[in-house]
Amino acid sequence: MQLPNEVEALIVGAGPIGIACAISARRRGIEPLLIDAGPLAHSIVRYPVGMTFFTTPERLEIGDHPLTCSGAKATREEALKYYRGVVRTEGLAFRTGVGLTDISRVDGQLVASVSTSHGAATIRAGRIVLATGYFDHANRLEVPGESLPHVSHWFVEPHTLAGLDVVVVGGKNSAVESALQAWRAGARVTLVHRGETLGSSVKYWLRPDLENRIRAGEIGARFGATVTAITPEAVEIVHAGGPESLPADRVFPLIGYHPDFALLERIGIALEPGTGRAVVDPDTLESSVPGVHLAGSVATGRKISEVFIENGRLDGEKIFGDARSRAQAEARYASSLRPKGE
Ligand SMILES: Cc1cc2nc3c(=O)[nH]c(=O)nc-3n(C[C@H](O)[C@H](O)[C@H](O)COP(=O)(O)OP(=O)(O)OC[C@H]3O[C@@H](n4cnc5c(N)ncnc54)[C@H](O)[C@@H]3O)c2cc1C
Repeated sequence: MQLPNEVEALIVGAGPIGIACAISARRRGIEPLLIDAGPLAHSIVRYPVGMTFFTTPERLEIGDHPLTCSGAKATREEALKYYRGVVRTEGLAFRTGVGLTDISRVDGQLVASVSTSHGAATIRAGRIVLATGYFDHANRLEVPGESLPHVSHWFVEPHTLAGLDVVVVGGKNSAVESALQAWRAGARVTLVHRGETLGSSVKYWLRPDLENRIRAGEIGARFGATVTAITPEAVEIVHAGGPESLPADRVFPLIGYHPDFALLERIGIALEPGTGRAVVDPDTLESSVPGVHLAGSVATGRKISEVFIENGRLDGEKIFGDARSRAQAEARYASSLRPKGE
């Protein structure tokens, strides 16, 4: 589908926060265009199939639309349906498969350069909101063999792993959940973690599950272990007991993600040294590039665990609203979180 030459507001990234920003703009009479390099809610698409959110459903809601789910917490599939439904109900204009590659200024106006399957294009925009998250850019082990085809930094579909030797690297939620899912799908799984114990933020229902599987010898575990290389057949590690070679048909280094620092720097957005956190006006989330705002998890630099859907979903109100509308939205969300009768 043809892209417009010019829009009032361009929202880059159609994750939960980008969608919420588009709603905030539209409710103020500003017609936004949402673009995403992948499909709608691409990050959630790449969660493990069937994954349950840690956050309770009302904290994942945007635009005052209720998220109903069959259990106490929403699954990946329920969240995908929900955000898709919100986009439809709000009548938001969106284009998928359109990736932002740069932003320049021509005759005083912002111009976004984008890539699509039909080639490169430009879109002039009154304002641009970057809500590009961090999930496209995986932290790497930086060891030989990490780019081999059987190595993936995203874990989506466990079924394909039945009967295979699988090594998962990491000690937080993604690694723990993936190790359990791969084992339940019939893989022989070893978890390799450089720490001596699992991360403290591991979901309370996953931790005992994994620990019991390790105790029963059903899932292998190597703590205090460092990966030194990946070969087509094995993962080479070193731990207190010396070097070890773990057979591996599939390898999942799941050791975190980071925003697209190269894109932010290309655009000219000032980042704090060390943390990589974008320098923004706290009231409007405008970056050091006038007219370019940052919303959601893209602004957090390397501290990706600081922004969730829950605390990023009002960013659109900061960008397109005013202090009063922000306060109203905060109060509305706060009351929706209180049990009825209080
Ligand atoms: C496995 C897992 C479980 C999680 N569980 C929870 C939870 O329980 N509760 C919670 O609140 N949070 C959870 N999170 C974190 C949550 O996913 C993020 O906080 C949330 O997705 C951030 O929303 P966002 O809109 O800022 O970014 P994202 O959802 O990451 O959306 C960014 C979008 O931008 C697009 N994009 C990136 N670069 C470009 C570009 N150059 N051009 C165009 N589009 C681009 C991407 O394709 C993507 O669709 C979890 C994360 C993971 C990985």
